[in-house]
Order: sequence, then C-alpha cells, then structure tokens
Amino acid sequence: MSKNQDTSFKAGFIAVVGRPNVGKSTLVNALLGEKVSIVSPKANTTRTRIHAILNGDNHQAVLIDTPGFCGSETPLRKVLRRLAGNAPKDADLTMVVTDIVKGEPKLTKLEKDVISAAQHGSGDRVVLVLNKVDRLKRKDDLLPWMAHYQAETGISAIIPVSALKRDGLDKLESYLLDALPESEAIFPRDLHTDQAERLMCEELLREQILLLTHQEVPHSVAVVIESFLDERPEDGEGGLCSIEGKIVVERDSHKKIVIGKKGLKIKDISTRARKEMESLLGSKVFLRMTVLVDDQWTKRAASLRKYGIQAGDSA
Ligand code: GDP
Ligand code: MG
Repeated sequence: MSKNQDTSFKAGFIAVVGRPNVGKSTLVNALLGEKVSIVSPKANTTRTRIHAILNGDNHQAVLIDTPGFCGSETPLRKVLRRLAGNAPKDADLTMVVTDIVKGEPKLTKLEKDVISAAQHGSGDRVVLVLNKVDRLKRKDDLLPWMAHYQAETGISAIIPVSALKRDGLDKLESYLLDALPESEAIFPRDLHTDQAERLMCEELLREQILLLTHQEVPHSVAVVIESFLDERPEDGEGGLCSIEGKIVVERDSHKKIVIGKKGLKIKDISTRARKEMESLLGSKVFLRMTVLVDDQWTKRAASLRKYGIQAGDSA
C-alpha cells in the first residue's frame, strides 16, 4: 500500500470515549457493519485498547478505546505514531459518545471535560455522538438540545444516532472519514487487533533497547514476541499479560551490551518496557526475554517488517 502513493488515502486514530453503557461497543460494531474490518475477538467488551481497525478502499480508521488518549502523549499514542511513520501529527479524532436519558441527551461534567481537553489538543478534533435516539418519540426534540450544547461547548459536530436501529450511521461515518487526515495506512490492512498489540509491545521494547544502549546496538536489533498469554478480564481493567520472546542481535558484542554488567542493562530495559506495556495494555505484565545472536535472522526480520509481516510468523 505504501508503494501506491494515492494522495486521497486517509488514515488516523479515533478515540472512542464515553461512560459505561452509553452504547460504545454497539456503535463500533454497527459502524463496522459489512465492511472489511478487523474487530477484537472479544468484540463486545472493553478489554482491548484497540476496538477495531476500519478499512475502506480509501481510508483506515483505527478505533481506540482509551479516555486518556486525547491531549497527552501516552505510550499508546507514541508507539502508534512511530508505527505510522509519516502519519498524522496532531489530527486525531475524539468521538465522545453519550446517550439519551428521559428524553434528553445526558452531558455530564466528565463529557464536557473530555470535549474541552480534546479541543485544546493541538489540532485535535472532536465529535459528540448522541446515541439511542430511538428512545425519542420525535427526533426534532433534540434540536434545541443540540443548539444548547453547541453554544455551551463550541463543538461543531453533534451527530444523533441509534446504534441499535442503525439510524444516522451513514452521516456519522462520512463525518469521521472525512475528518481523518491524509495519510498512508497505519497498519497492514489484514492485521488483527491482537497482532497490533503485539507489534506495539515489540516496538516499545525495541525503543528501550536503543534508548538505554545509546544506539551502541544497531537498529537492526529485532524483538520478537513469541508467546502472548492474555489473561485480562473480559470486561474492565486489570488482569495479566504474560509476554515471552527474544531479542535478536547480529553480533556477540551487541549481546554483551544489551545484557550489560551482571545483567543490569537488560533488567533496566525490561523494567522500563514492562511499565509502558502495562500502561498500553491496561494490565499487569509479566515479561521474559532472552537475548540471542543470529545475523541472518535480523536481516530477514528487517525485510519482513517492511512488508508488515511479523517476523515471528516466518521463523
Ligand atoms: P458501552 O458500555 O458503552 O460499550 O455500551 P454497550 O454497547 O455495551 O451498550 C449498553 C446497552 O445499551 C446495551 O444494552 C445496548 O443494547 C444498549 N444500546 C446501545 N445502543 C443503543 C441504541 O441506539 N438504542 C437503544 N435503545 N439501546 C442501545
Ligand atoms: Mg463496551
């Protein structure tokens, strides 16, 4: 896809935020609809931070489930940016979802805060989705509320939908896709969300290696997660991910640098990477990596990566 420099391609991240039960999962699934898309295997839960990757002919939207996403440079955002290469700088979209309660949209202080945080991120855009309009007798009843919230928050895009009845989704989708920045696809188009998480964890570890060895170890260093045991609860935070794999370097001298005196360097690398992974995955992380030397392997892995194939798949 990178060879095909189609300038009309749009890609970016959309943070889906909102209180529990407003219908975020229902909405994401409804948006995915019939499209060529990749959903988390546990699609109806909030377990994973990547809800789904929405692929169309000319766009790729990565739907992310993390309220802390907008405005701050979280490890997730950082690593996504790096994976994206030349991707959007400050053009993420925040989709705030709320619902209709007793005939009116419920906009709490929390939602207003999220909207204002997203508006103050440099160039970030925000859309307010009023879900469950099927609960209204007349949709027109919403108009005064929309005007009210528009004035109060300064938000320009307020879109009423019913995720359940699939009402208003076309309008929402065209708004979202249009608001994405021009960019190449962020993930390979057939990548599963679980693989995306692995890839991000590998990237976090690789970053720490390069950082803490002060680039004494060349960029060809490869990190491969071979086993990713996901024991996060179906719904909610916590649990554990057990991650094991290998760090492959080209020379024995590089291996010595990565391990360090009395193994202190690898310990430091692992600790830092683990903390970032924990924040990314929203769980505790058990991390065990071994360092090995294989010059052929790193060359192969580097060329595979270019095509977005996980090196571990071919080993
Ligand atoms: P989440 O916690 O924000 O992910 O919310 P869910 O997607 O799990 O939905 C919570 C509840 O709201 C479920 O019972 C859904 O069936 C219901 N729901 C979602 N969207 C709609 C809608 O458009 N209309 C109505 N009436 N109910 C909805
Ligand atoms: Mg949910």
